[in-house]
Amino acid sequence: MFRALVVDEGQQVSVQELGADRLPEGDVTVTVEYSTVNYKDGLAIVHGKPVIRSYPMVPGIDLAGTVSASEDPRYGVGDRVVLNGWGVGEAHWGGFAGMARVKGDWLVPLPDAFSTEQAMAIGTAGYTAMLTVMALESNGLTPDAGDVLVTGAAGGVGSVAIALLAKLGFRVIALTGRPEEADYLTSLGAAGIIERSELTEPGRALGAERWAGAVDTVGSQILANVLASTSYGGVVAACGLAAGADLPASVMPFIIRGVTLAGVDSVMAPTPVRLAAWERLATDLEPTTLSSIVSTIGLEQLPQAAADILAGAVRGRLVVDVNA
Ligand code: NDP
Repeated sequence: MFRALVVDEGQQVSVQELGADRLPEGDVTVTVEYSTVNYKDGLAIVHGKPVIRSYPMVPGIDLAGTVSASEDPRYGVGDRVVLNGWGVGEAHWGGFAGMARVKGDWLVPLPDAFSTEQAMAIGTAGYTAMLTVMALESNGLTPDAGDVLVTGAAGGVGSVAIALLAKLGFRVIALTGRPEEADYLTSLGAAGIIERSELTEPGRALGAERWAGAVDTVGSQILANVLASTSYGGVVAACGLAAGADLPASVMPFIIRGVTLAGVDSVMAPTPVRLAAWERLATDLEPTTLSSIVSTIGLEQLPQAAADILAGAVRGRLVVDVNA
């Protein structure tokens, strides 16, 4: 038997005791130790569709734990593993459970540097933050080019992105709707803070050149304004839609300033990219910084946590102890 947060048809959410015979098909069974709450998990628990593709569903797009049975030669009993995305928690039962059965192809061996709890403190949000930093780097951004803006700064992706960029020597500016979190953002490495309201109104197609790069987690008008104030040759890595999925932007930043808009996806990222991101996280993210951004909850607290993350009220990262 194992406990799981189950979303039934009609969006009924409850914690249930299930038998192992209820687990979906897969070649590796994992005893889950920790999961985490991402924005998408909030959408799954509160709204269901379109994130949840079939019912009943165990949400949780991330999990970390130990292999308890395996038909995949790459994984043996006792191996520590981490899983991010691949439609888990959307179309296949996910991490808000004591057990999971998944495809071996979806797993990444957990780097020795991390405990399973730390892996979920990072989670999809942190791994995506690493992907955005790698996207800035691969498009040529270096710390001497100028400031880097991080939007949705006090959220999960934003918090980890600030910590990573600061450690790598970038001067980071945090855009937040929660100025009361200024001390928190500064402790992560932000050198400056801008209030969200400065970038929410429609602005000029090209504004003053304020930053050489940006990590955008919110989209919509804010991303349009971020692009308009990116300096010549700059790079903006876009990964999120917390403000909206639209992009009311002009082509002027691209054709006059040569700005690059780099899209970042974590869900279907190929395994070599994931391995590279997790290796970088092991060297570029300070464990003490990581612990400073985390709060831990149990399965029963997930419905409230889901509502909170959609309301933009979660600071940093929420780890789920599935045995609590
Ligand atoms: P969080 O909720 O933890 O962070 C989002 C932050 O955005 C909030 O903390 C808040 O920061 C800000 N925000 C919230 N609502 C608004 C709004 N209406 N307008 C402007 N800013 C707002 O979520 P995550 O960090 O987990 O995810 C961030 C985004 O990235 C989500 O849209 C998520 O879907 C996406 N994402 C995409 C991935 C991919 O593969 N492309 C992977 C992971 C996440 P503050 O209070 O500081 O302003």
